[in-house]
Order: sequence, then C-alpha cells, then structure tokens
Amino acid sequence: MNYVGRFAPSPSGPLHAGSLVAALASWLDARAHGGRWLLRIEDVDTPRTVPGAAERIMGQLEALGLAWDGEVMWQSRRGDAYQAAFDSLAARGLIYGCGCTRREIADSALRGQAQPGTDGERPYPGTCRHGLPEGRQARAWRVRLPEGVERFKDRWLGPQEQDVAQAVGDMALRRADGLWAYQLAVVVDDAAQGVTDVVRGADLLSSTARQRVLGRLLGLPPVRYLHVPLILDAGSGLKLSKQNGAPAVDTSAPLEALKAAWNALGFPSFEAPDRAAFLREAAARWARRFP
Ligand code: GLU
Repeated sequence: MNYVGRFAPSPSGPLHAGSLVAALASWLDARAHGGRWLLRIEDVDTPRTVPGAAERIMGQLEALGLAWDGEVMWQSRRGDAYQAAFDSLAARGLIYGCGCTRREIADSALRGQAQPGTDGERPYPGTCRHGLPEGRQARAWRVRLPEGVERFKDRWLGPQEQDVAQAVGDMALRRADGLWAYQLAVVVDDAAQGVTDVVRGADLLSSTARQRVLGRLLGLPPVRYLHVPLILDAGSGLKLSKQNGAPAVDTSAPLEALKAAWNALGFPSFEAPDRAAFLREAAARWARRFP
C-alpha cells in the first residue's frame, strides 16, 4: 500500500500536549502502514503566524524522534497552486464575489433561523449567490456548493455525515483580507503531497465534509480520515490550544512526553528503555488497533 500521511501544524505557537497527540497519532499511523510521513507548515494565515514557531515545532519533533520524510512544505509559498485551483473553479462558474460583512452574515443567519453548527458556526445564507446587491463590492470570494448530504467513515469515530450546503453554506476560498482560506489550502496541499491518510485532532472533524466536497469539485482523489480525541485542560475543561495558552511540550524528557501523549490517546502504558524503542512498540500496537 502506498500510504502517505502528514502533520500540518499552524505555526501560531510551539507544540503543546494537544498538538503532540495529533502528531504522534499521525506518525504512528504512517509508520504502522510502512508509509511516508510528511510535514507541512500551515502558515497560510500570515497574521496569526508567530515568528520562529515553525522552527521551534520542527526542533521539538526532532527531539521527540518524530522524524518526517522529504522536504517541508510551507503554505506561505504555495500561492500559485491556490490561485490555479481557484481559477479552475472560477472557469466553471463556481466562484462568486460576496460583499457581506461578518456582522451581516450573522444577522441574516439569525433572521433566517439557520441553526448554528455544533461549533457555533453560522452558515452563509447565500445572500450574494445570484449577484452582488446594488452598490456593493466583492470582499470575499465564495464557492458554490452542491446540495446534498456528505457521508464518510472516520477510522476512529465511525460513520459521519453533514449537509455541507446547509450547515456551512458556500464557503469563502479567498477571504476579505485577501488571504487564501485554510479550507482551500489544505485540500490543494494534501493532493499535491499525495496524502492518502489524514490523522488529526477531532476539532477538525467539522471541517472534513466540506474538504471532501471541495476536493471533489477540484477533481482530486479522496483521502481517508482518522480524528483523534481532543485533550481537554483538566482545570477549565477547554480544548488545549495555543489560543488558551497551553504550555510547550518539554522535550528535555522526550520519553515522558511521548508516554503522556500515548496515554492521552487511550492506550495503556508499557515500559520502554528509550524513545526509539518506545516508538517501535507503540507503532506495532497502533497497527493492531488500526490495521
Ligand atoms: N493547521 C491545522 C491546525 O494546526 C491542522 C490542519 C489539518 O491537520 O488538516 O489546527
């Protein structure tokens, strides 16, 4: 099997206990399948990029023994590829300009009684789908999504479905600030890197159906998904994230950090003399659970 996996951190801060769990799971899945494991720095959202964070993450991965294959891909250098994908959709009449502000979208969603999604997100109500209102200029560029329920099987969580047109609406591919949307970048890059398997945190489960729909519109091959449970902060019960100040993984004790991430994935502890032995045994156990 020609397995290609990847880890795709946003460099908005160092690796923390939550992102290490995602990194470890995707590394183990790639190694368990004799595959390649690629690293992609998702610095498409340049205002959120913290200088030096990408290099710090790479140093942490190296210290933990989570070696990646081949060259690192940087989204900030991939503008031409995103433009080409966008142009191919535009040539088929699937892109339109949208003049709505964030506030207007929230208000019209409220008026239309659209239910927010599980993550509180309000769907785009399609205001500009049939042309910009008089006197309005395009701020963002959206893709016309087909109707229907998108179904897929998650290798950890089982069958999933979402009516993307209804729950999300036509999504912005180019944002009002001129940046490419994460949703476009991730789909284009996974295909460009030949990724067969995406293993990541369950916070991205709600993005998966739309990424599948977008990939299909672009004629890209489908990908398998496995979403791992999120680590919650013991005190607040919130998802551990850079935004709520999760501390960097301490890589001066790599074996301890790896063991904690392994336990957080729900696997029982086992003894190992060092990092390499631990990772070998963990990959063998992972392979039995996720053949
Ligand atoms: N860059 C995203 C993050 O750090 C991950 C995207 C993905 O794995 O698809 O949350």
